[in-house]
Amino acid sequence: MKSNSGNNAQAAQLADRLEQAKIYQHWRKMLTSPMITVGWRKMPYSPHTETRLLVMNAALEEINRVTEINGFAIRMQKVFWTGLGPNALITTSCFSATKLKKWAIDIEDHHPLGALMDLNIIDTNGMSISRRDTHIQPRTCLVCHQDVYTCQRGKPHSLQAYLAEINELILRERFGQYGVEK
Ligand SMILES: [Zn+2]
Repeated sequence: MKSNSGNNAQAAQLADRLEQAKIYQHWRKMLTSPMITVGWRKMPYSPHTETRLLVMNAALEEINRVTEINGFAIRMQKVFWTGLGPNALITTSCFSATKLKKWAIDIEDHHPLGALMDLNIIDTNGMSISRRDTHIQPRTCLVCHQDVYTCQRGKPHSLQAYLAEINELILRERFGQYGVEK
């Protein structure tokens, strides 16, 4: 019998994305301030749950820290689970989606595990704020550090290349100079 596990995996991933979208939609309706969504950065490599949890915890900790040092407070924090792993929704007392987007980009670009995080800002109209809206460069590829769109047009990297980069970031975060001020 011909194996169709690839198709099954794709279908399962699609179902997980739909589930995630449904949860966002539910919260979106109740938004009175912009929402931060936290997840694992989309990439061809699918990591262990433990790795995703490590990155999720680091993201939540950093968002809490940045919110506080900017003089705001966390209003709601909800962590939920889909087949895509842990996801979180956060709202703060900051009503500026642009300001939140700048914090999110700063975390993605400068936190030791930021390159593995996917932080999105959804404004009170339910619209996602893009990097372009804030006039900030697109993200760079995890592996070759080129503009992610330029890289995607070329040859995609091997799964091993992604894994090596993820391991390197985690090792650096655990044993490197974590917590050094930017
Ligand atoms: Zn690349």
